[in-house]
Amino acid sequence: MIDTAFSTPGRFWRGNIHTHSNRSDGVLAPEEVCRRYAAEGYDFLAITDHFVGRYGYPITDTLPFRTEGFTTILGAELHSGAMRNGEIWHILAVGLSADFAPPASSDFVPVADQETGPALARRAREAGAFVAVAHPEWSQLPADEAATLDAAHAVEIYNHGCAMGCDRGSGLHVAEHLLNSGRRVTLCATDDAHFNEPDHFGGWVMVRAERNAPEDLLAALKSGAFYSSTGPEIHDVRWHDEGVEIACSAAVTAVLQGQGTRTSVVHGHSQTRFSLPYGKLAGSPWLRLSIIDKAGKRAWTNPVWCNAA
Ligand SMILES: [Zn+2]
Ligand SMILES: [Zn+2]
Repeated sequence: MIDTAFSTPGRFWRGNIHTHSNRSDGVLAPEEVCRRYAAEGYDFLAITDHFVGRYGYPITDTLPFRTEGFTTILGAELHSGAMRNGEIWHILAVGLSADFAPPASSDFVPVADQETGPALARRAREAGAFVAVAHPEWSQLPADEAATLDAAHAVEIYNHGCAMGCDRGSGLHVAEHLLNSGRRVTLCATDDAHFNEPDHFGGWVMVRAERNAPEDLLAALKSGAFYSSTGPEIHDVRWHDEGVEIACSAAVTAVLQGQGTRTSVVHGHSQTRFSLPYGKLAGSPWLRLSIIDKAGKRAWTNPVWCNAA
């Protein structure tokens, strides 16, 4: 099994890829958003303002706020077309160029005959973006409808703003349905920070690349060379014939998940190494790991696929 996050050359860079500024409905100016993330030890940030007409379709320019140790990726949260519940799609697109053509989305309300969400996501991916299904639990998005977003690289499995604002921060249920259908999506944690409530510095990605440069980070995101966290660090993961070995920051639980109800779990105290046998998960087409620390904070690996194809 190939686990690109832990076999790709380089080191891990910490970043938040879903953020809003006052160029849409966030509270802070882009410069202050970047300053705060850099001050909190982040290596990179994507400001992803709402790409709708009421804000002038912003692709917020963060290039002036890059520094020696801190970089940015341009992006936006895209909206167009109605979901089955009648609300407009929310699609995260990281790595957009400043001239990405707007859909006809004047506001957050879908209108007849505008570009559909799946079509807009496809256009963003073709333009070079890393595309994610944003906050599916908040959107009350069923898994079969999430599947129509066929251009999505990833599913937001943790959205800190949605977790803090309305206790709907998860996306694992939708992501695992997609995995069970054979879709090779990856799993990302984000802040979706607006700085109008405690919605920042709570969920991030750790991206494996040789350089902290936008193009390297974007390529790594697309290839799945990252893991997600709300606290713990995962230093290494090794998939062997009989089980998986994990090296991490101090944690109390490691769980191995796959298709179906079977899981493999080890509980402990201040463990920095875990060894989990595949056991009854041996036949699962995909496997993934969760690490939980004593404060209940989590880290999640991307799925690995057991039959390389
Ligand atoms: Zn959203
Ligand atoms: Zn958002």
